[in-house]
Amino acid sequence: MRYQAPISDLQFLLFDVLGADTLHQLERYRDATPDIMTAVIEEAGKLAADVLQPLNKVGDQQGCHYDPKTHEVTTPQGFRDAYQQFSAGGWASLDAPTEFGGQGLPHTLKFIVDEMVCSSNMSLGMYAGLTHGAISALYAHGCEQLKATYLEKLVSGEWTGTMCLTEPQCGTDLGLIRTRATPRADGSYSVEGTKIWITGGEHDLADNIVHLVLAKLPGAPDTTKGISLFIVPKVLPDSGERNPVFCGGLEHKMGIKGSATCVLNFEQAQGWLVGAENDGMRAMFTMMNEARLMVGMQGLGIAEMAYQESLGFARERLQGRAVSGPGNPDGPADPIIVHPDVRRMLMRQKVLNEGMRALALFTGRQLDLSVAHPDAGEREAADDLVQLLTPVVKAFLTDEGFNNANQGLQVLGGAGFTTDWPLEQLVRDARIARIYEGTNGIQALDLVGRKLGLHGGRLIGRLFTLLATHLQAHADAPFHQPLAAAVKSLEDATAWVAGRGMEDPEQAAAAAAPYLRLMALTVIAYLWSRMAIVAQQQLDAGAGNTALLEGKLVSAQFYFDKLLPESSWLLADITSGKHSVMALSDAQWDA
Ligand SMILES: Cc1cc2nc3c(=O)[nH]c(=O)nc-3n(C[C@H](O)[C@H](O)[C@H](O)COP(=O)(O)OP(=O)(O)OC[C@H]3O[C@@H](n4cnc5c(N)ncnc54)[C@H](O)[C@@H]3O)c2cc1C
Repeated sequence: MRYQAPISDLQFLLFDVLGADTLHQLERYRDATPDIMTAVIEEAGKLAADVLQPLNKVGDQQGCHYDPKTHEVTTPQGFRDAYQQFSAGGWASLDAPTEFGGQGLPHTLKFIVDEMVCSSNMSLGMYAGLTHGAISALYAHGCEQLKATYLEKLVSGEWTGTMCLTEPQCGTDLGLIRTRATPRADGSYSVEGTKIWITGGEHDLADNIVHLVLAKLPGAPDTTKGISLFIVPKVLPDSGERNPVFCGGLEHKMGIKGSATCVLNFEQAQGWLVGAENDGMRAMFTMMNEARLMVGMQGLGIAEMAYQESLGFARERLQGRAVSGPGNPDGPADPIIVHPDVRRMLMRQKVLNEGMRALALFTGRQLDLSVAHPDAGEREAADDLVQLLTPVVKAFLTDEGFNNANQGLQVLGGAGFTTDWPLEQLVRDARIARIYEGTNGIQALDLVGRKLGLHGGRLIGRLFTLLATHLQAHADAPFHQPLAAAVKSLEDATAWVAGRGMEDPEQAAAAAAPYLRLMALTVIAYLWSRMAIVAQQQLDAGAGNTALLEGKLVSAQFYFDKLLPESSWLLADITSGKHSVMALSDAQWDA
């Protein structure tokens, strides 16, 4: 099925609900008028459907190939041309800084394009995605000379970037890094070590690959406080010589087969320090925070494609008769979309996808305000929400992205399990997003262990103020009561996690994953409430797209009836404490 970008939903969310129609009033985004934003969205939708999607299955079937003699990697047929079309169209540089050739458009637009790219071809999108993270890290932490050497080529997509953290003995715990950087006389460094699972570590899409590498300097502390960040290009920009960083092989994976996941051997490769010595984690976090939001969009993108496929199938596939009487009396059977159980699965996909899109764009909008608002207080408030919600977007959108893809497969029955239909690939591709960029368990620990306490609880305080203000302003609105109950659950859970976590950090850690989920469901409930209020106002005024607006009201009802009630048992889960999680003795696990 041809991918259809969810343009009406995006316009409703952006301009009618989230107020992005006024974004162009901020000096930094003066070009981002609703017309321009709409044109960008429409063009991105076409690119996704016409150029990227046709290569998605090709990428899965062909995968990437490694030549051990040359250490080179070949990407699937058509990827190079599509990547070059993507770069030439400026899609890689949409929100990149203008002084280095970017278009400086709002980050929210980048989020939207990320969703479309991942709906149509997540593997291909990853090459540009990692490059974008490298641009941000270099822009924020690199010296002027490094910026001048690398940024323009990265922004144009002529060169791509990578993020090199993981090593065989070191995944989540980066303190265990063994890659070393030794100073050279000319101020550069020799980087020596092996990195694994490096996305886009070697490929044939671009002329140069710029690796951002975490490594330790001689005598550095043996913890994350002793890590520095280095830039190590595959080809040295001054001399054009090949730097000794070589691909040692490719991973064989269950999904995203068109994305090259590489072992990289740094053999005294020449590198340059980015930022200060031993401050590499801070610089890398610029890249990781951005990448976490992008990975959240991968979850949503795949879930949207799965929804479109399963909806199309459910309208066509004839099986059984509707419980309420034949819906297709002239045919041999009714389309399966008449069956309540099939509708339940489709509704879950539709309502969660639209809610997740609202959460993502709400966060994107805060990101835009955090960099572009003229008032420092407003910038800080927006940044607080971005920091708080980044792990929530990453974990919830990828958990539910995978669950929704899986649900979509179920709608297809046996067909979904075969390679004749794209669902099985979507499920396989979606799975990784819950793991990389910090597993979803680690996102939950970041939320509970770091974000809740940051600045004396200021971040979570901002969220509660936002929710309370909305509840107060819309006391008579539909869904007020269930939203207020979910907010109360989140408040109770926060007090429990903060109080018990202070006495015993293991209590907070055991509650972290359900707590993150509770926050996601509550913030999405707030956004469904806002969507329903706007939909009703527009219907009352006789304005807008009636089918979309009436659908929003039904969808909001589904969210509050069928999905939000999970918040009650999440609170029960959290406050039941750690005992049953932690109490088994070693012998009891497999007795
Ligand atoms: C396809 C693919 C692409 C990747 N791309 C990149 C890339 O471009 N660059 C890069 O550097 N890396 C990359 N990675 C690596 C990825 O980021 C790691 O796999 C991930 O961070 C988890 O590390 P790990 O696999 O070593 O798991 P481990 O750290 O061994 O964790 C195993 C399990 O234990 C849990 N766990 C570990 N520590 C804790 C803790 N303290 N508290 C609670 N739970 C814990 C984890 O949540 C997980 O469930 C990629 C991986 C894959 C598979």
